[in-house]
Amino acid sequence: MSHPANPAATSTATPAVARSAGDIVLFAPLTGPAVPLSDVPDPVFSGGMFGDGIGVDPLEGKLVAPCDGVVTHIARTGHAATIVSAEGAHVLLHIGIDTVGLNGKGFAPMIEQGAQVRAGDVLIEFDQDLIARAAPSLVSVVAIANSDAFEIVERSSAGGRVKAGETPLLVLRARDGAAGAAARAASAVAVTEEARRQVTLAHAGGLHARPAARVREAARGFDARVEVRYEGRKAPVESVVGLLGLGAGEGATVEILGTGAQAAAAVEAVANELMREAHGEHEGKPARQSSPAPRQADVAARGVNAASPSASHAAAVLAPNTLAGVCAAPGVAVGKLVRWDDADIVPPELAEGTSASESRRLDKAIAAVDAELNSTVRDASQRGAVGAAGIFTVHRVLLEDPTLVDAARDLISLGKSAGFAWREAIRSQIAVLSNLDDALLAERAADLRDISKRVLRALGYANAAVRELPDEAVLSADEFTPSDLSSLDRTRVTALVMARGGATSHAAIIARQLGLPALVAMGDALHRVEEGTQVIVDATHGRFEYAPSARDVERARNECRRLAGVRETNRRASHQVAATRDGRGIEVASNIATLDDAKTAVDNGADAVGLLRTELLFIHRQTAPSVDEHRQSYQTIVDALAGRTAIIRTLDVGADKEVDYLTLPPEPNPALGLRGIRLAQVRPDLLEDQLRGLLAVQPLNAVRILLPMVTDAGELVRVRRRIDELAREAGRTEPIEVGVMIEVPSAALLADQLAQHADFLSIGTNDLTQYTLAMDRCQPELAAQADGLHPAVLRLVDATVRGAQKHGKWVGVCGALAGDPLAVPLLVGLGVTELSVDPVSVPAIKARVRNLDYQQCRQRAQDALALDSAQAVRTASRSHWPLD
Ligand code: PEP
Ligand code: MG
Repeated sequence: MSHPANPAATSTATPAVARSAGDIVLFAPLTGPAVPLSDVPDPVFSGGMFGDGIGVDPLEGKLVAPCDGVVTHIARTGHAATIVSAEGAHVLLHIGIDTVGLNGKGFAPMIEQGAQVRAGDVLIEFDQDLIARAAPSLVSVVAIANSDAFEIVERSSAGGRVKAGETPLLVLRARDGAAGAAARAASAVAVTEEARRQVTLAHAGGLHARPAARVREAARGFDARVEVRYEGRKAPVESVVGLLGLGAGEGATVEILGTGAQAAAAVEAVANELMREAHGEHEGKPARQSSPAPRQADVAARGVNAASPSASHAAAVLAPNTLAGVCAAPGVAVGKLVRWDDADIVPPELAEGTSASESRRLDKAIAAVDAELNSTVRDASQRGAVGAAGIFTVHRVLLEDPTLVDAARDLISLGKSAGFAWREAIRSQIAVLSNLDDALLAERAADLRDISKRVLRALGYANAAVRELPDEAVLSADEFTPSDLSSLDRTRVTALVMARGGATSHAAIIARQLGLPALVAMGDALHRVEEGTQVIVDATHGRFEYAPSARDVERARNECRRLAGVRETNRRASHQVAATRDGRGIEVASNIATLDDAKTAVDNGADAVGLLRTELLFIHRQTAPSVDEHRQSYQTIVDALAGRTAIIRTLDVGADKEVDYLTLPPEPNPALGLRGIRLAQVRPDLLEDQLRGLLAVQPLNAVRILLPMVTDAGELVRVRRRIDELAREAGRTEPIEVGVMIEVPSAALLADQLAQHADFLSIGTNDLTQYTLAMDRCQPELAAQADGLHPAVLRLVDATVRGAQKHGKWVGVCGALAGDPLAVPLLVGLGVTELSVDPVSVPAIKARVRNLDYQQCRQRAQDALALDSAQAVRTASRSHWPLD
């Protein structure tokens, strides 16, 4: 039982009944005015769903234990805790309203789940300002979860100021002896129930990242702590890093151990997940690639180019001065080897401030990196860059991993700085993974190195690796991390070579996106090549030659020149319009999301902007943009386009495109919910404000309006009518063109009806593919199958063009398919006359168009409609129109 330390402090409480001997006094866990439960601004609490209790409006960022007891639960997100008192009262402590959505931002738990605490011990520290800004209310709740067993007989008066750990806030009394005993018995059972099970791992490759992440999900929601044990090592199930560190391979027998009220069910769920067979699963597999990364030994022996679809074999016996590698990005380069000084960022060991303030610094840095990664994932998904989205999603999971965060906190509590603690926590985990001698796990170690650097940078430490590079630098490293690559001086670097990594490594995917020739998995032999040595990187053929003969250098330079010549020819012609050899004009426009993109589009010769994704302009905001903010953003972009037209799409938010200012209840099936134009059904104000802003842009004929996610003509007619009204109100007399996105199968099938009322149609193949094939566009495991060249999608493109032609309207494609060189001839052949692509792809797509014969494309596109798979379409296209 807890006793008040100072009886005089009870003066703010209103005694309901006289105290009796068995009463339990709960001291205020927070400092601030008391708030009656009925006034807590959340019906879940005020309605008593979590039990009877009281609120406190905190004035200090510290939550302390209200009584002696055991902390049976600390929310993963750090915003809530439960304490069970010695008498069996379950006391829920919840900081702020709706704070679970902050995902841990601003909260720093100071104790571990399971800890025995004394009244007044600090449980959680929190950043009041941050939470007050981000959450609906800071009012916090103390609720008695087993109010059926304990009644509140005394509570602080409303508005009375209570002091954390000092003022008694509530007095509880067991409802009757029997109930109290039952509650104690129940809590005793709940704490001691234990379940164990042994299972043999069926996952191909064992307990790797994806199964580990699934296991973590399987255990969520159970009132139990579960750990997995293997060969003397153990890991809590919520730690993906810890689970990887067990090194349990396919066929290994592990033990699952659970404790808590639902231990048996939780252990069962985890066991089922571990025994689930994963046919043909390969971790981190980049899109459209079917073979797993070869192990380094295989690479050295075979010199196989595994990453390129046009894989070719290096000579079985390598020439002298030659190393084999795996092609991560094709191309040829000549240059001087420069070791990328991957010197670690070295933070000071000792903390300057208190442990609590260092802990808060770490939380802030982690939260900042998490937010950065979140927006990177979002942008990548929206651009259809599924591979990159997957990489950074894994990084977000690692960032919140309890094994890392707890280890860092331990070091902080010993007086180390936040940066030092974080770096050491990651280093020791990397050491565990490296010792496991497993290529896939080694790739996860690279992910850890990357999040280590990101967090250290967010803590304000500079990267020693930033330095001057010579011209024609071929950078070598053990393995580059994605954040290394994002800060490269692209003008001086001609190629990347790595001792480690595989075709599945993230650096490989990003090198491809940068367009730099890259080799991975070259082995330690790479490190024996001296800095400054001249080298030839023939990434396409998986070969790296050091100190080559003059003749070889000459030959390589010729090939580089040929490829560069192709790029330069494309670039030079990029400002002219593109037409096929037989004179069919095709507009090559750009998809943009920012003013910078608009400038890049102009530099690369885009004829127009085919899609401005306006939702991305306002993605990080807490409030919806005003009419004038809309106008200003579009005006600056229109001005930058110097006379080119811009197709401006109205906000396409909802589903995978979340924005902070949209607070709608979560939908069970968001991709099929209130997204795109449908949002106007519940938030017409958002669309109206945007249209008003759009209609104020000068000159109005530089702008065309595009409506996303339209399903049928009724929807279009309604919005179009409103646009006309708003234009009249704004005093605009010039006609404004309105087009419709074709990204729902119904819209493609009803294209003739839509074209009657629209000025043009623009096919969004990203969504059209998703909805036609019923494959989530953000699901990495379906990336290879969710192919817009599927004949079913092509038939809908065909139906769209035919429907539009009935009314003399034009059709464009603004989905990622428009920038796929194998798709271009087919889209042109089906009658599409505008292709809107990434700004940097414009020159190559224009060049591709100029090499086509429209009549031939028409015939072959019709043939493609009869093929039975996307793969068959790709093969046919490649053979008719080979790639450079
Ligand atoms: C599409 O769906 O193809 C499209 C261009 O729109 P977004 O990718 O923005 O959904
Ligand atoms: Mg879309």
